[in-house]
Amino acid sequence: MNYGHGLEFGTFITPVNASPQTPVALARRTEELGFDLVTFQDHPYQPAFLDTWTLMAWVAGQTERVRLAGNVLNLPLRSPAVLARSAASLDLLSGGRLELALGAGAFWDAIQAMGGKRRSPREAVEALAEAIDVIRGVLNADETAPLRFAGDHYSFPAVQRGPLPAHHIPIWLGAYKPRMLRLVGAKADGWLPSLGALKPDELRTGNKIVDEAAAEAGRDPSEIRRLVNISGQFAAKRDGFLRGPSEQWVEELLPLVVEDGVGTFILATDDPRTMEQFAREVAPALREAVHRELPAPASTGKARSAAVRAKRREGIDYDGVPASLAGAAVEPGDIGYARVRSTYLRGGAPGLVLKPGSTAEVADALAFARSHPHLPLGVRSGGHGISGRSTNDGGIVIDVGELNTIEVLDEHTRRVRIGPGARWKQVAAALDPYGWALTSGDYGGVGVGGLATAGGIGLLGRKHGLTLDHLRAAEVVLADGSVVRASDTRNPDLFWAIRGAGANFGIVTSFEFEVDEVKDVGWAQLVFDADDIAGFLQRFGQVASSAPRETTAFMVMGARRPGQPMIAQVYAVVDSGDPEVVVAQLQPFVRIAPAYEPQVMIVPYAAVMAMASDSEHQGQGEPVSRSAFVNAITPGFAETVARQLTSGAVSFFQLRTVGGAIADVDPEATAFAYRDAAFSVTAMGADRHRLDTLWDQLSEHFNGLYLSFDTDLRPQRVADAFPPPTLRRLRELKLRYDPDNVFRDNFNIRPGTPSTSKDAS
Ligand SMILES: Cc1cc2nc3c(=O)[nH]c(=O)nc-3n(C[C@H](O)[C@H](O)[C@H](O)COP(=O)(O)OP(=O)(O)OC[C@H]3O[C@@H](n4cnc5c(N)ncnc54)[C@H](O)[C@@H]3O)c2cc1C
Repeated sequence: MNYGHGLEFGTFITPVNASPQTPVALARRTEELGFDLVTFQDHPYQPAFLDTWTLMAWVAGQTERVRLAGNVLNLPLRSPAVLARSAASLDLLSGGRLELALGAGAFWDAIQAMGGKRRSPREAVEALAEAIDVIRGVLNADETAPLRFAGDHYSFPAVQRGPLPAHHIPIWLGAYKPRMLRLVGAKADGWLPSLGALKPDELRTGNKIVDEAAAEAGRDPSEIRRLVNISGQFAAKRDGFLRGPSEQWVEELLPLVVEDGVGTFILATDDPRTMEQFAREVAPALREAVHRELPAPASTGKARSAAVRAKRREGIDYDGVPASLAGAAVEPGDIGYARVRSTYLRGGAPGLVLKPGSTAEVADALAFARSHPHLPLGVRSGGHGISGRSTNDGGIVIDVGELNTIEVLDEHTRRVRIGPGARWKQVAAALDPYGWALTSGDYGGVGVGGLATAGGIGLLGRKHGLTLDHLRAAEVVLADGSVVRASDTRNPDLFWAIRGAGANFGIVTSFEFEVDEVKDVGWAQLVFDADDIAGFLQRFGQVASSAPRETTAFMVMGARRPGQPMIAQVYAVVDSGDPEVVVAQLQPFVRIAPAYEPQVMIVPYAAVMAMASDSEHQGQGEPVSRSAFVNAITPGFAETVARQLTSGAVSFFQLRTVGGAIADVDPEATAFAYRDAAFSVTAMGADRHRLDTLWDQLSEHFNGLYLSFDTDLRPQRVADAFPPPTLRRLRELKLRYDPDNVFRDNFNIRPGTPSTSKDAS
């Protein structure tokens, strides 16, 4: 019986030797020789032994690729709750390289001498079963409530869970007797005996017990990896099992794979020459031999446990995920799902998140998504979309966050290629050493993909325009899976469309930008007394829109709180490193209203972007936001906004100065066409209906809107975002590039013919 596990090899090292560095050196050698795994004995009562956990942490810091495990960890001397937290921590610190192998306990005198509790064989197995539940519970940091556990052997009133590990940490058990083997089948991810401790047939009979227990527990036996510790000696002459030349080892190990389903061989040795010979002569030859015997046996993809499968959503062909994405698919039951389910502002529960690592994989992911036409499809780069359409409920998300490289293509023309998954603070940091910057948004955590396909209204905007004004070419995966280049000369219509309406036309997998020379900038943060809300808004509007182009200023207000003064925060970038220029351009702002502790610094633009946090997305519920462009802050507009802020319906109001270089570009040059406005305004609230009603009352002041700041999915918003001729052209192009409307989940532009396009929505 083979269980379809890819073949892996490891070493098994004694945590003591001539010097404490010897096991570390052996572990490093393990990695150099290409083994998958390095494991260490764990006997915490042995006088000269290094503590295994400390050794593993040290080794993790000294290696880069090889995975680590105790072999097997002595559970009676370790609290399972603390062990789980240690495991999660080391897994995170090592980049997902920690595996857990546990033992129920042996050498009870020694355990008792170290303060551990002596247990009968039955009690030891029961305690291990409880410990597995505790460990899994603590590792399940998706749950926020503390873990309460009341067992016969362990009792925890409230264990704090987490941290969430970097990968699903498998639990393997060192097991020999039926009771333990049944526990493996019922709860573990792997069976790890030492071959030398088994009688000839015990691998087979043990597998049978494990398989039956797995089936009884509703599990697929192939969820359980079969590992064995092996030892032997290389010699010229054949002299017994694993005592002889390399080819004898291969002959003897082969049936263990083909007939007994062993997927992992762990070589117990502290001799570097034995490791080397095994790695050079046994492992590759055994792989080849297995391949000959079982041409298509071993999927290296991860078999999902019954528990994970139970959380699958209706209507998704999970088992049909393309092989290229097998390791890049995150399901609701997977560890790490919490990291990908939501966006910055919106809570989500997608049925499947695919994380392709190349353009070809994006095309595979898209083909898979297209085979589920009934499901929502989200496309995610940085997950900061305000409308949150890069997540969904029960649908598929293609997350291109892994495509995040930043390369300088040509220093002379300042041409830079950037992946959609890069964040703007990474872009700014990468360009800074060249004395360059690419105008982006005001928050360095935002992703390149969503922002660069919609606009990019940022703090260098009045001097350097929109982000998409710097785009010179892009690679796009279209709805039919084809990969095309879009530029002024290649697919120019598509190039026009993705600069403002990109979400509707494909998945951009790389952007080529021409960036600007930007040295240090003036960075100002000002806090004003804005009790006279309407007057403040008008004065800010007047000063900000008449400032020189070097200065781009944004203003934020919250709802008026009873009994508290109204505060306005202004933040601005002056594109000059000359303190005199910076001060001169900011002076008029300081006169708008009484200011509290103005802060002005001369810093690299990258330092402004670097202030964004790196925390994972934990959006909840539905964000409620509305957007518009306005040409001026008129008294009527300012007074209505003041009333809205006072009513409490608007909890966040932002004015961003635009114009300048943004308005220099011909409105027909890109799908982003409302370029003559002076301000982009945004309001957020908690009650969608209330905010929509108030915002719609302001519509006479509006001159278009920026879809990236809006969450109102009524079709009218699309008509507001694009002037009629632009929208007509977009609908015609949509018919050409995405006739089946695959990309529809984020402000959909419906495909239209020239005649149907006349009604603009
Ligand atoms: C804190 C914060 C600050 C912001 N500041 C600014 C700002 O200063 N200026 C500004 O202009 N905007 C700003 N935004 C809005 C932001 O630009 C948009 O929400 C943008 O879409 C986010 O990009 P993302 O890749 O992070 O988002 P995601 O949520 O990953 O994507 C948003 C949408 O873009 C589309 N999309 C994503 N990736 C691709 C791709 N590779 N190809 C095609 N379509 C794609 C999808 O339809 C997706 O639903 C801000 C948002 C937040 C949350």
